[in-house]
Amino acid sequence: MSGFNRLQKEVIGAGLCTDCGSCVGVCPSKAIVMDYEFEEPKLQKECPPRCNLCYEICPGKDIPIPDLERLAFGRQRDTGEEFIGVSQDLIKGYATDIGSRNAGSSGGVASALLIYALENDIIDAAIVSGMSKEKPWRFEPKIAINREQVLAAARSKYILIPTNAILGEALEKGFKRLGVVGLPCHMHAIRKMQMHGMPKKTVNSIKFCIGLMCAINYDYRGTEHLIEEVCGVPLDQVAGLEYRAGAYPGLFTVITRDGKEVAITDNERRFHTIGFQHNRCMMCYDYTAVVADITVGDDFDPAMKRGVAGWTAMIVRSDVGKNLVNDAQAAKYIHTEPIKKENFFQGGFEWKKHGGAYHITERKRHGWPTPDYHMPINYPVPLHREMFLNHPHLIG
Ligand SMILES: Cc1cc2nc3c(=O)[nH]c(=O)nc-3n(C[C@H](O)[C@H](O)[C@H](O)COP(=O)(O)OP(=O)(O)OC[C@H]3O[C@@H](n4cnc5c(N)ncnc54)[C@H](O)[C@@H]3O)c2cc1C
Ligand code: SF4
Ligand code: SF4
Ligand code: SF4
Repeated sequence: MSGFNRLQKEVIGAGLCTDCGSCVGVCPSKAIVMDYEFEEPKLQKECPPRCNLCYEICPGKDIPIPDLERLAFGRQRDTGEEFIGVSQDLIKGYATDIGSRNAGSSGGVASALLIYALENDIIDAAIVSGMSKEKPWRFEPKIAINREQVLAAARSKYILIPTNAILGEALEKGFKRLGVVGLPCHMHAIRKMQMHGMPKKTVNSIKFCIGLMCAINYDYRGTEHLIEEVCGVPLDQVAGLEYRAGAYPGLFTVITRDGKEVAITDNERRFHTIGFQHNRCMMCYDYTAVVADITVGDDFDPAMKRGVAGWTAMIVRSDVGKNLVNDAQAAKYIHTEPIKKENFFQGGFEWKKHGGAYHITERKRHGWPTPDYHMPINYPVPLHREMFLNHPHLIG
């Protein structure tokens, strides 16, 4: 059975595809493409015999976290790191350029680090996620080579984007040093490529990877529901879309072809898309992108006020990540400060460590397919419960 047939049977057909795009991005024969309608890869021509690459690096079913951590950081988690993963530093910060800070979802740090790396000859291109020209309510992987392109792709999009699908194309275009931003499942695939040493060119090209914290993600149908039914805008009238426009937490804003803006609050966005959560995401146990070089998320400090300029919470994990953050700070691209560890134990933490754990446990009980993280998935998780009970103000 070819690698893709195994992928089809054990991952895609089993409801375990995260839509990360990695299989498309590594395929040496261009045998598969992303089917944007169904948000999964599909075969477009026959595979050569014995190729197994897409199956090997796929993070849908098999995610050997302890092995990936040893590979990326040279060690496994220590006491105190059980829930957020290996870390050298816990900090918060923002992009010092106010335009970049305002362009970001949180403090604009993810984009500022990419801009620093591009402007200081560390990378030739950044792999990001930006708006589709043909369908301006959809988002797709993009190659950014300058500040303007990085900032055009800033901000969170609460939909699946197969970011890693563009890795092969970036290499074909001659970019040899890449910085990648993506969700935890994108990071899993990158580390699996490094673990297998394949594809060699891709592995050699990735200079760092920035992981976004991820509570849950949604199918495109959810966004289309928000636009058409909740905001009342026909899809063919959409000229642009922002999931979190303006100051934190931002407004879900549809820009129409005749220049109008139709906006709903962040809470309304969440309420109306809750039924469109991607199935595999409900079985996801990684909230903090535990194998990224640097993880970025919202800073959920209870003192943080809505409507003021945002901060990015950061978990600096690898030496590569530490050097990047320190150098970008020294070059005044970002400002950083210490952060309280409790700030990481809210937001999506609850969804993943209880919700994700619950769904995995329930599905296992019925003998349904589940992802294997190679670590204990305990439900209920008493320590988390105690923490929430002791810090009720942290739930946000
Ligand atoms: C689906 C999703 C769920 C999230 N859940 C949480 C959460 O529970 N808790 C939390 O603290 N933070 C969460 N985040 C992360 C948070 O929203 C910010 O992205 C993060 O704090 C970085 O902010 P920034 O201003 O530094 O980044 P920015 O400067 O705004 O840059 C963000 C980068 O992420 C890329 N990106 C945006 N959306 C996607 C996507 N869907 N897939 C791949 N790449 C993307 C952009 O292209 C850009 O390069 C989530 C993000 C997403 C996309
Ligand atoms: S990576 Fe190999 S097995 Fe997978 S789709 Fe491409 S050619 Fe087929
Ligand atoms: S590599 Fe990613 S997109 Fe491809 S099948 Fe696996 S999870 Fe799905
Ligand atoms: S919830 Fe998990 S599987 Fe889904 S997009 Fe986020 S990291 Fe990927």
